[in-house]
Amino acid sequence: MTFVAPSWVPKLPFHPPDSIPISDFMLDENHGRHPLGYSKAPFTCGLSGKTYSSLEVKERVDYLARGLAKEFGWSPNAGSEWDKVIAVFSVNTLDTLPLAWATHRLGGIQSPANAAYSCAELEYQLKDSKATALFTCLPLLQTSLEAAKNVGIPKNRIYILEVPKEFTGGKGNPSGFKTVHDLIQEGKKLDRLEPLNWEQGEGAKRTAFLCYSSGTSGLPKGVMISHRNVIANTLQISVYEQPYRETRIAPATQSAFTDNVLGLLPMSHIYGLVVICHASVYRGDGVIVLPKFEFASTLESIQRFKIGSLFLVPPIIILMTKNKPLLDKYDLSSVWSIFTGAAPLGKETAEDLQKLYPSWSIRQGYGLTETSTVVCSTSPDDVWLGSSGSLLPGIECKIVSLEGSEITGYDQPGELLVKSPSVVLGYLNNEKANKETFQGGYMRTGDEAVIRKAPSGHEHVFIVDRIKELIKVKGHQVAPAELEAHLLTHPAVNDCAVIQVPDEYAGELPKAFVVKSPSVGLEESDRMVARSIQKHVEEHKPNYKWIKGGIEFIDVIPKSPSGKILRRFLRDKEKETRRAK
Ligand code: AMP
Repeated sequence: MTFVAPSWVPKLPFHPPDSIPISDFMLDENHGRHPLGYSKAPFTCGLSGKTYSSLEVKERVDYLARGLAKEFGWSPNAGSEWDKVIAVFSVNTLDTLPLAWATHRLGGIQSPANAAYSCAELEYQLKDSKATALFTCLPLLQTSLEAAKNVGIPKNRIYILEVPKEFTGGKGNPSGFKTVHDLIQEGKKLDRLEPLNWEQGEGAKRTAFLCYSSGTSGLPKGVMISHRNVIANTLQISVYEQPYRETRIAPATQSAFTDNVLGLLPMSHIYGLVVICHASVYRGDGVIVLPKFEFASTLESIQRFKIGSLFLVPPIIILMTKNKPLLDKYDLSSVWSIFTGAAPLGKETAEDLQKLYPSWSIRQGYGLTETSTVVCSTSPDDVWLGSSGSLLPGIECKIVSLEGSEITGYDQPGELLVKSPSVVLGYLNNEKANKETFQGGYMRTGDEAVIRKAPSGHEHVFIVDRIKELIKVKGHQVAPAELEAHLLTHPAVNDCAVIQVPDEYAGELPKAFVVKSPSVGLEESDRMVARSIQKHVEEHKPNYKWIKGGIEFIDVIPKSPSGKILRRFLRDKEKETRRAK
């Protein structure tokens, strides 16, 4: 049984174009976007207030593309996109997306890295993506320099994205490095670039973004997201949002059509990248860019810019429910929509927030890097707390039981399979993962879902569990295989397995089962060994990957005859232990 978008969702007005780069789709008015002259400034700094209008952004992207072409010796129609990979390791900035679009204008790829990455993690992505240049920001410059050196990217191929002085403690751009601004200034003096000369279908084949995701198993992999994938999901989101947008006036603009939205979530993650920076900008909204979550400055920005839609992840919603007195200090009357994704939002948390703010529409979306984000979402007219909402237009889903048979009715759990023009091209250089994940035109999500009929009569998707290994800490991906490989480098660890345990705030936390090495002396207590292992992780991995779910010593890691860790067994055991407590 195939599930599709409910009848109230408008159909896609046209096929997602497949012969243009994302930059044309976003900056050219011929492809359905809100007219540039009537759109909000696409990106405004939430700390400094610095902003560029839509027309200025279009111009800056053009100049930047010329500057990049000269700097790297690239031309739009020469070579493959894989010769033109730019890595970005930065907090959110006003220029992050303009840089991506300038790269796309040259037929190149942007590979965004999580700003929380350690040097070794950045190195992994730089090497795997074969990036030839690295764009970073002042607070991350030291890590960038070290990682770039280790992979052979010369210092003169490191560039600076400007962050506001309010964020750097008053420090300006570092000397000795070109900035995006410098490249734009150089581009202004250069001739216009030749147009990209793409045949029909080329935008569906060419990678535009190379994001990293561990998928259903193993280490983080480069996810090849095509131009058409991003264009498709941007259109799908925009069309889905259309019916109710026409019926309400945004306080920021006094208009029904454009609004200010919160641009706090990382632009390096598919949620921030596509939902916030593409779909919102395409619809003519303004993204209020913040480099980092800090409660007071976020609330301050909502008040200052009269933000209407808050794109959030569950831990921030939990904080909001527990800090009402702080929220009350700010005028949040502009807010009407809360949109959460990247991890499940508990029904109880949603209800707590709804009680505090009855007029807010609390919506949940579900998606993956591998589907260029949103598969389904609740609409303000059909909110059902706990649900991930209805399918977007142009998406088909199937539910397949864990035994492999297709589910034909409601309320029966199974793995969710997705077919959509937004399903990505695949993983870079990883045929095994591609075969396992992309089958018969469908993407296997590794998530367990049920379809239920809402009181409204429409079908809703509920994500009820995760079958795949992936752990999600505050919406960030943690790959058990990566942590296990790291734990094995500790002398006290003979074997190990990492699973997730539930956590009220972070959603999930990694927990390690460890078989101690025979070399561990009898005089060393379990507590001492566990502390030493924790420290080993803390020294090399970002905070969200720390083993905060605890370490349990066991005699043997349960494995299948082929040597695969039986995580399900460990997870069930863990659930039982917790229930018994
Ligand atoms: P990522 O590729 O980092 O976006 O991670 C995708 C994964 O996050 C999905 O496969 C789910 O396991 C999880 N996820 C995202 N959104 C939701 C949601 N609304 N409810 C439950 N899990 C979610």
